[in-house]
This record gives sequence, C-alpha cells and structure tokens, in this order.
Amino acid sequence: MRKSSALVFVLPLLLCGCRQDVPASDKRTAEMMGTFVSVTVYHADAAQRQDALDAAFARAEALEQVLSPTIGDSELCRLNAAACGQPVTVSADLAAVLDAALFYQAQSGGALDCTLGGLIDLWCIGTDHPRVPAPAEIAPFLPDGSPRIQWDGRQVEFAEDSVQLHFGAVAKGYIADEMKKTLADCGMESALIVLGGNVHTLGTKPDGSPWEIAVTNPFTEVAIAGSLRVSGESVVTSGDYERYFEENGVRYHHILDPADGFPADSGLASATIIADSSLACDALSTAVFVLGPEAGMTLIESLPDTECILIETDGTLRLSSGMGAYDFAEVTP
Ligand code: ADP
Ligand code: MG
Repeated sequence: MRKSSALVFVLPLLLCGCRQDVPASDKRTAEMMGTFVSVTVYHADAAQRQDALDAAFARAEALEQVLSPTIGDSELCRLNAAACGQPVTVSADLAAVLDAALFYQAQSGGALDCTLGGLIDLWCIGTDHPRVPAPAEIAPFLPDGSPRIQWDGRQVEFAEDSVQLHFGAVAKGYIADEMKKTLADCGMESALIVLGGNVHTLGTKPDGSPWEIAVTNPFTEVAIAGSLRVSGESVVTSGDYERYFEENGVRYHHILDPADGFPADSGLASATIIADSSLACDALSTAVFVLGPEAGMTLIESLPDTECILIETDGTLRLSSGMGAYDFAEVTP
C-alpha cells in the first residue's frame, strides 16, 4: 500500500526569489483530505502574504469539515447517516460540489459516480486493511439505472440504504478553486496551490512567465513524461499508481468502474486534465480514467477550453487537439 507524492509537480523554476524585481514568497504546507496541501504566494508585503495564507488554509479546513468522508461529524458523514428516505438540506458548499459531480456524472455517462460511497468503503483502499470484496458484496452498491438520489438544488434524499455520497474524486478540485479565490480576494496575484495530484495556479509566475508543470511518467515514477505551461489554469492527474494494494500478485487501485465495481481497467495508466476550474479537472480526470483513451478523448474534445494528456498502459502518450496552447514538451527517456 502506498500513496505517491504529487503526480504533477512544478519544475524547479521557482528559484526566482533571487531576482531583485521579483517579490518575495512564502510557502505553507499542511496535511488535509488525506494528502499534502502546499501553497506558495508571491507578494511584496510579508504581512499580506501571511494573511492570505491564513485565510486560504482556514477556507480549506472549513471545506474539509464539509466534504471529508473520514471526519465523523463532517457535513457529508452526517448527510450519509440521515438522507435515506428523508430529505436533508445541505450547505452552499456541499450543494456546489454535488451539482458539479452530478453534471460530470451525466457528461461521462456515469463513469464518474459520486453515489459510490458504500462501494468505496467496501474496498477500504487507502486504509491499512484494504481487501478484495466478493461480487455478491459489490452487487448492492452498483448503479442499476434507477435514480439513486433526489436532488432539487437544496435538499438531497437517497432512494436506498446502499446509497452513500463520496466526493473523493472531486473535493480536492473544489478546495483548490476556493483557496485560489480566497488568495485573490486577499490581494494576491501570483500563487501556486498543490493538493496531492491537483495543481492550481493564480496568475503567472511573479516575473510574468507561465508556471511550468511536469507530468509524471508512471512507468518510471521518478521520471517525467513532459512539461506544460499554464497561467491561471489547473492541472489534475488521476492515475492507477496513486493509491493501490496488491493481493495474490494482482494490483488493485483506487479508481473504481461503476459498471462492475472493480478498479477500472480501461487501458489508461494516467489521465491529466487542464482547464480553468480545478473542480472540472478533478471530476474529468477520474471520469476519463474510467472511460479509457478512446471515449475519454472524445469527451475532452467535446468540452470547450479543456485539454488532456493521456498515458496508456503501454506507455503511449496522447494529447488532445488544443494542447498546443500549453506548449507541452515531451521528455523522451
Ligand atoms: P485522487 O483522490 O488520488 O486525487 P481521483 O480524483 O481520481 O484521485 O479520485 C479517486 C477517488 O474517488 C477514489 O479514492 C475514491 O474515493 C473515489 N472514486 C473512485 N472511483 C470513482 C468513480 N468512478 N466515481 C467517483 N468517485 C470515485
Ligand atoms: Mg478526480
């Protein structure tokens, strides 16, 4: 069982504090939502930098209390305990995440499915006691085409006991978007936010040049597949090498195919999405990973201002048609 470090990371081009015309920076790191969160802000005023970091991390901690599947009294856990047969009114943050999850669930034909909490708990991936459930255990949790929740934009109600919401595939994207908004509200114009495999950027680097983000090559782990340049966009990767366990020589990873309840085996080793919204990137990286290279690429090509880098299980790299905008430079091993 392992959890890798960030799947996408920033190339060491941040050593710009040595330039006189570049404002100083502060970096803060914390553990949250089962991963490491780090934020680097660039601004001339040290007190303003600290205030912005305080505000951004306070916002993230508040969102963890809403969206965490492991904090027993998070809003999500209380909702999961209460919403079968009984409508529950949810907060604006939970509503925003649920709206987005259901939107991308529909866009992806159900490849992303935020009602799989029971199935996710069955596998226990990411805990110290993961296990392979029997098909009979899995069956009750699989979507059967009938509506599993009722949602009117304010209240949610589950149709069956087996329905549990889980935002593991989208919550980090929402938190990254909200941290970015908070930093901007505090007067920051240049910042880098990293939540595990989710990277978000505010503006450009302080010298006006784009951030350079590296995409991991899962076949060598330490090597990079290439790098791209973004100015304000988010870059999010989902991969089968992030969280997994092995049993009888078989590797079971953490992204489940709602069609059979087993780890998705779609021919992709990783899916990296680039778009303005980190929530969109997070939802789509998981959905595309489940859909596989053909259907995943078709989905991304159908969406405006959304690009992807797919790495197939045989190592083949596929770029969406608009990736030229991000100046992707492939690194050949
Ligand atoms: P990570 O959490 O490592 O950033 P993802 O964004 O791809 O990776 O989300 C994977 C997580 O989402 C899993 O750990 C699980 O909690 C949940 N999940 C797994 N399969 C699905 C799915 N098909 N739809 C929605 N959520 C899923
Ligand atoms: Mg995701």
